[in-house]
Amino acid sequence: MTTKWVISVRAGTQRKDIVIMSTEEEGPIETYRRVKKKAKQIDEKLGGQATVDIISRLVPFKPRGYKPFSSWLWCPYCGKWRVFNYDDYLGVDRCSICNISTSDFYVRTYNNLWGKEI
Ligand SMILES: [Zn+2]
Repeated sequence: MTTKWVISVRAGTQRKDIVIMSTEEEGPIETYRRVKKKAKQIDEKLGGQATVDIISRLVPFKPRGYKPFSSWLWCPYCGKWRVFNYDDYLGVDRCSICNISTSDFYVRTYNNLWGKEI
């Protein structure tokens, strides 16, 4: 199973995305562990001066924990509750971190957006 991950490193207005693909020898959990380890190393190296997030590009995460604010949505690819910003051009809301939109199947499903005007 191919999985694709992005380690997003952000500090102020700067942002760096590191793309990590699974290899043929590893299973999805091994890849995830490798990505988590690398993200932790980056975080430690930067000494808390940057925000480091793991984004899944192919496999969605199910919602967990409580929604911190009613306007936030569950982002299945960040695996976190996120602020979604309105994209004027396409008329959808997008995750402020990974950019997935509310037209995505899993964003809709996990946030009960089917049939809603969004
Ligand atoms: Zn996201």
